[in-house]
Amino acid sequence: MKKQTNIYETVTTQFERATDVMKLDPNIKRILGTTNNELTVHFPVKMDDCSVEMFTGYRVQHNDALGPYKGGLRYHQSVNIDEVRALATWMTWKSAIMNIPFGGAKGGIQFDPDKYSISELERITRRFTFALGDNIGPEYDIPAPDVNTNSQIMAWIMDTYLSTMSPHDRNKCVHVVTGKPIESGGSLGRDKATGQGVVFNIIQWARDNEINLNGISYIVQGFGNVGSWVARLLNELGAKLLAVEDASGAVQNNGGIDPSSLNDYVQIHRGVQGYSEAEAIDHQTFFGTKADVFIPAALENQITAGTAPLLNVRLIAEAANGPTDPEGDKIIQKNGIELIPDILCNAGGVIVSYFEWLQNKRSEFWELDEIDQKLLRKIENGYDRVSNASKNYNVDYRTAAYIVALTRLEKVYKERGIFP
Ligand code: NAD
Repeated sequence: MKKQTNIYETVTTQFERATDVMKLDPNIKRILGTTNNELTVHFPVKMDDCSVEMFTGYRVQHNDALGPYKGGLRYHQSVNIDEVRALATWMTWKSAIMNIPFGGAKGGIQFDPDKYSISELERITRRFTFALGDNIGPEYDIPAPDVNTNSQIMAWIMDTYLSTMSPHDRNKCVHVVTGKPIESGGSLGRDKATGQGVVFNIIQWARDNEINLNGISYIVQGFGNVGSWVARLLNELGAKLLAVEDASGAVQNNGGIDPSSLNDYVQIHRGVQGYSEAEAIDHQTFFGTKADVFIPAALENQITAGTAPLLNVRLIAEAANGPTDPEGDKIIQKNGIELIPDILCNAGGVIVSYFEWLQNKRSEFWELDEIDQKLLRKIENGYDRVSNASKNYNVDYRTAAYIVALTRLEKVYKERGIFP
């Protein structure tokens, strides 16, 4: 089997292409091509049976020229320093494209959370937070959910961080994480934000191509937070879900799958496998399903030299980070498949995280319709910036998205200069 692409190499390939096209100042290129800070922590946690296990966690801070570091935390057995570097770098580009005053960071722990009890997960999370110490903070570096982390984990991180502070400072710092439960300072709409942002991007694409989304078909890989929200929101627009793949397997029903019913099933059975309203299919059949749109919403390196030739879709909307490797990218471009790149497509999460952060700082609580409206405006503007750059430079949307981000960052560095 071919070795998986190292996703930090994917970032470098994408970055090099954009910097060549836009002729980024070589000094700024040197700065942005490197991460600012990389922290690896090893920490002990007491298990339910009183044994002690050692864990390895990471936090990588890529760049903070536009504002505090911002980015999710991932719990997965494949987490490693290069993956975290890549994800941190993409966060910088995302905020720059969307005009949000944040930099880029990412973190995670290398372990399979499914193998641990809830109380062990809580202790792992709290001890990791303690190990990170002052390397995170509400005005410095603000984590959020990512793969296998959720609002409960954010609540534990916030509680641990606040417990280490003086009582006078605690309520000033609830914005140390975003994606919290609503009652603990979270924002309405954060749960669905990434999926909602993906759907708003698809709406922009449909607008530009004069396509009616009512009646179009789509397939989704990954049915966790992001994938299940995309599916539920697209169905509200009249689109038809034909196939879903997750870590447990893949299912298909050309008559249409009801995403809400599938979501209920997944909540109980922890995967799509065994869902009785659809037929089980294999990985190859899933990728070959004929549909209008494919939404990868699982992990990186899914659209590769092996799977890209199978795709029979018009558009790929990258909800996951880094789902397409450089070989896969070449094939889909050659086959004329359009693509909304991850750093544009899945930015809804960081946008509503920014709204949550603002609400916490101002002790405000915004209504959902206000949040959705503001999110839509941000996505429309970001999408148009990328679309214009694609026309101006005559490049694909991924390269155009990089150019938008790098142009903003280049300007900031030139205005501020390099200390000393
Ligand atoms: P999640 O943990 O809620 O769901 C992950 C899904 O991927 C699950 O359905 C899992 O079964 C599936 N999966 C895992 N391995 C797979 C495999 N080998 N083949 C097929 N499916 C597999 O995670 P999420 O928060 O929905 O994140 C999904 C993607 O979206 C990630 O790339 C993440 O970085 C990205 N993302 C998430 C957010 C967010 O707000 N949560 C924001 C931006 C981007």
